[in-house]
Amino acid sequence: MTETILLDMDGVVLEGPGTPQSVYDRAADAAVDELGLEPTDRQRAGLRSHGYESVESACAALGTDPREFWRQKEEAASRLAAERIRSGERAFYGDVAALESLAERATLALVSNNRHETATFVADHLSAPFAAARGREPTPEGFRRRKPNPHLLEETLAELGVETGLYVGDRETDAVAAERAGLEAAYLRRSHNADGPLPEAVTYELEGLDDLREVPAER
Ligand SMILES: [Mg+2]
Repeated sequence: MTETILLDMDGVVLEGPGTPQSVYDRAADAAVDELGLEPTDRQRAGLRSHGYESVESACAALGTDPREFWRQKEEAASRLAAERIRSGERAFYGDVAALESLAERATLALVSNNRHETATFVADHLSAPFAAARGREPTPEGFRRRKPNPHLLEETLAELGVETGLYVGDRETDAVAAERAGLEAAYLRRSHNADGPLPEAVTYELEGLDDLREVPAER
């Protein structure tokens, strides 16, 4: 049976732990312009916040549909994220090269809390073949189903038609989601999580993606 290895995106293949707030600020401003809104400074701060509740209450005050605003903001954030990757402002880790040989023995998938559009963009830009790429849908429901909710991992396993595998992440929430989805968890050390404690439920601790070669295929 071919092994299945699912990988988190931010902090695993893409440098840095996540999308910086400045991207959400610019995405919110783009959605404000697109929808022709005129928020106060306080309302704009709510719209820029990376959380649905504050966006929802600012939209209520402005009399605009929060779901539509959220969709526009997520779309703009995906566009900005793609621009940052294309320009090299945000780079891939050098050890993603190890995924090419790993793909010869394993089915690879990318599973991220980040936006689905960004996850598929990143999978397409990596030279290793990815059988699936999944991120959050641009809805409040999609935002609520982020890890440690196992939803994204379970949907990916169903898409691949498998029940077991390994999930490689850089946060405790990744390990928790993996355990809930019935997967083994590998914890990848990067500069932003070099010193923290090893989360519970982690089977493998990795110093880089090259270490995946040492993880036994039969578990
Ligand atoms: Mg991550």
